[in-house]
Amino acid sequence: MRKGLLTTIAAAALLTIPLGAQAQMDDVKIKAQKLTDGIHMLRGKGGNIGVLTGPDGTFMIDDQFAPLTDKILAAIKEIGGDVPRFMINTHYHHDHTGGNENLGNKGVIIVSHDNVRKKLVNGATIKAFNKVIPPAAKAAVPVITFAEEMTFHLNGETLHVFHSSNAHTDGDSIIHFKKANVIHAGDTFFNGFYPFIDTGAGGTVQGVIAAVDKMLALADDNTKIIPGHGPLADKAALVAYRTMLMTAQTRLSSLKSSGKSAADAVAAKPLSDLETTWGKGFLPTDKWITIVYDGV
Ligand SMILES: [Zn+2]
Repeated sequence: MRKGLLTTIAAAALLTIPLGAQAQMDDVKIKAQKLTDGIHMLRGKGGNIGVLTGPDGTFMIDDQFAPLTDKILAAIKEIGGDVPRFMINTHYHHDHTGGNENLGNKGVIIVSHDNVRKKLVNGATIKAFNKVIPPAAKAAVPVITFAEEMTFHLNGETLHVFHSSNAHTDGDSIIHFKKANVIHAGDTFFNGFYPFIDTGAGGTVQGVIAAVDKMLALADDNTKIIPGHGPLADKAALVAYRTMLMTAQTRLSSLKSSGKSAADAVAAKPLSDLETTWGKGFLPTDKWITIVYDGV
C-alpha cells in the first residue's frame, strides 16, 4: 500500500517531490490576492504564502520552492513590498521552506518553531512518502525560534504567532494578524480537501482538530483565512473542514480500537460519504486513510 502511494502523481504533487523540478517550476506563475491594505496571499506552487508590506519592512510567511524565489520576490515588489525583513516557516516541509536558503543569503531573518529548526538542521524523512530531506544549508536555517508563541509588531499590525502541538507536524505555527482579522493556518488547514498529516513527524488528526479549534476561537464572519493549500477561506469553510475531520476521527478511531489495521480500515470504506466533497484534491479517501491512520 505504502509503495503504491509513492508512485502516484497526486502524492508527488502534494509534496512536490522533484520530478524534473526546475522544468516544472519554469511554468509556475505567482499570483497575488489582496486581502487588506498591506496583506496579500501569494499562490504559485507549494504552500500558500502570506505577505505583510509597509514602511517598517516586509514580513513573509513560507517561501515555497527555491527555483521560485526570484518570481516570488518580483511578485512582492509588485504589491509594494521588498526583500522581506522577516520570513517565518509554518513547518518544515520543503514546499514551505524551499526558498529559505535564497532568502537567508539575502539577509532575511528566518523564524520558526524550535522543532522546525531541528528538522532543518538534522534533516528528516517524511515517512508517508519515503521522502528524505537532507540537512539544510546554513543560510536556510532559522535564526530565531520559539516554543509556544511570539509577537511581531510592524507596519501598525500585531502578528501573534503561536504553536499548536502534534497537528500537521510537531512544529506547526499559526499566524494571527490581529488588527486585520487575517489568519495564516499553515498546513493545519487544507481548504476543501483531505489534509496530508505527517504522522511520522508527530502529526495527528486530533491535533489538527485542536489547531482548528484555536483558529475558530479567533475567527468571526469577516475573518480571512489563508490555508496551507487551497483557495482563500472564511470561517464557514474552516467549520466544514472541522466537521469532516471529526467525522473521520470518530469513525477511524473506532475501527482502530477494534483492532483493525490500516488496510482493514480502508477496506471497510468508513468515509465513502465524504469522498465526493473531500477526496477530489491531492488525496482520495483510501490513500488518506492509509496516511492518517497512525495518527487517529
Ligand atoms: Zn506540509
